[in-house]
Amino acid sequence: MLGGENPEQRFKIEAMAATLLDGNKIATAIKAEVAAEITALAEAGLRPGLAAVLVGHNPASEIYVRNKIKACEALGIHSERLTPPDSVSTEELLELVDDLNRRDSIDGILVQLPLPKQVDSKAVLLAVDPAKDVDGFHPVNVGNLSTQRPGLVPCTPLGVLEILKRSGIEIAGANAVVVGRSDIVGKPVAMLLTNHHATVTICHSKTRDLAGVCRRGDILVAAMGRAGFITRDFVKPGAVVIDVGISRVTERSEFDKYFKGNEKREQEFATKGSTLVGDVHPEVAEVAGMLTPVPGGVGPLTIAMLMANTVRACKLRRGSALEVQAATAGRRG
Ligand code: NAP
Repeated sequence: MLGGENPEQRFKIEAMAATLLDGNKIATAIKAEVAAEITALAEAGLRPGLAAVLVGHNPASEIYVRNKIKACEALGIHSERLTPPDSVSTEELLELVDDLNRRDSIDGILVQLPLPKQVDSKAVLLAVDPAKDVDGFHPVNVGNLSTQRPGLVPCTPLGVLEILKRSGIEIAGANAVVVGRSDIVGKPVAMLLTNHHATVTICHSKTRDLAGVCRRGDILVAAMGRAGFITRDFVKPGAVVIDVGISRVTERSEFDKYFKGNEKREQEFATKGSTLVGDVHPEVAEVAGMLTPVPGGVGPLTIAMLMANTVRACKLRRGSALEVQAATAGRRG
């Protein structure tokens, strides 16, 4: 401690120790790179296309799909929104997916989850052509990731990786702890980190001494869907903490647990009646070295990586047409 400083002052100086990793800034940079690729593809006569299948009227799904379509429009990706009714059957959805699989102008197919109860979601996801599976959920793409073959990787895990890479965080050799083992976040994040040479531990609801295991992480990824669960006791001092969780706080008592005295959040809560919190308690900023905020951390990367995946799918599937064109142009020239 510096001479003459009281412990309270010292606490305050340490209180905001973590560097916040700005997901919006990273997402903007990625989208600019994707836009440049789209311009190059356009010069070669190709326009990537994304089809979003939105069943029924789930308000959250409607917002997600709207934001994805908006991002396509901003970047010049052709987009289509297909909106079968809530009463749709598995067979009808399979037919719709089959039609999209056949259309050459569609490079990416995304089926917004959840699907209604009567629909066999697994059958529908399995029907998506792996070459157009921009969500990276198809078992063929899961296998490609696991065996490090070219393929399509789920967007949020890819976003986590991009945050780490673009923030200059050394992954090789790091102890990485991933809390959550879902097919869409936890497992692919763990696989990506393994492929980048981290030593990875995957935790879940049956993990013993979760806090102790998490404290071993140089990199800690929280993807559990439990508001503010990861408190300072879970975090190794100086660790990089990536917060994938998103929960909405609407109760004043819960709000106070995370944001009491935070003026900006108080204002938001007063006007909107809610605010977002991740799986990581805000107090973790006092011990972590780097931390992704919620909102504005991993969230913006998910859509940016969907755009990147659509362009990648276009290049992987139709890229040979480009090579033929280039070769023909070369011969002509
Ligand atoms: P999920 O399918 O519900 O999986 C949650 C995982 O966390 C499970 O593996 C579960 O363990 C584990 N878990 C839950 N409670 C736990 C506890 N008390 N201790 C240890 N492990 C626990 O959720 P998900 O789809 O992976 O999503 C996770 C979070 O990420 C959610 O908040 C979601 O909203 C958010 N998310 C954000 C984005 C984004 O764009 N930022 C994208 C996708 C998801 P078991 O397997 O043992 O049940």
